[in-house]
Amino acid sequence: MSTTCFNAHILTLFPDMFPGPLAHSVVGRALDKGIWSLSTTNIRDFATDNHKTVDDTPYGGGAGMVMRADIVGHAIESLPQEAKKTIYYLSPRGKTLDQAKANEIAKAGNVTLLCGHYEGVDARVLDYYNVEELSIGDYVLSGGEIAAHVVLDSVVRLLPGVLGSEESLVNESFENSLLEHSHYTRPLVWNGLSVPEVLLSGHHANIDAYRLEESQKLTEARRPDLWQKAQKIK
Ligand code: SAM
Repeated sequence: MSTTCFNAHILTLFPDMFPGPLAHSVVGRALDKGIWSLSTTNIRDFATDNHKTVDDTPYGGGAGMVMRADIVGHAIESLPQEAKKTIYYLSPRGKTLDQAKANEIAKAGNVTLLCGHYEGVDARVLDYYNVEELSIGDYVLSGGEIAAHVVLDSVVRLLPGVLGSEESLVNESFENSLLEHSHYTRPLVWNGLSVPEVLLSGHHANIDAYRLEESQKLTEARRPDLWQKAQKIK
């Protein structure tokens, strides 16, 4: 019996880029175990001319090319019904991916990611299929595929059974709007630098308090935006 609890569909001009990095490490092992599934649809398969053209010049003029609504639309129509429900278009204009969004996608059970190229996709596709735009940060990539890898990696590691211990998720950065505390392992002294004394004490309450304080200090210093949110959660 399959244990698949999450299905990902990718609409792309470069299906060979998948699973790519997603075939490795914990996310790749989860794919092998069938905890999640990945399918790709090559948008170019829906081109109708001999050259397999998927783009055209923009109405109104300007630089670059735009992915055609009819071709991307046919690619979307070819998806199974459940994959048409929640479609995200990777786009620098979108809301930036964060841990809350990764959790939301993980809980949804399936996701379809539309990867753009050139200047992007004809805007009517986004309106017609109620597509949400999702960015991975304030910079411009040449295509949506690497962004799709980032989204899926952040989502899949949240699925039940993917990480070894549930605790590794609970204490991670961005849970409770805090950055994670620092980590140390052997050797005890390295290049003259020692591990903080309290971590050797075996006193779990003191260790927890030290780590929480470090998380709070780091968050306040590095991410005032998160620190404000963390104050509200308290
Ligand atoms: N003309 C677009 C703009 O300025 O907003 C950028 C297009 S970019 C060259 C081509 C494709 O890369 C986009 O359609 C999108 O799918 C993807 N992409 C680029 N930057 C991204 C980002 N920060 N997050 C998610 N996807 C991105």
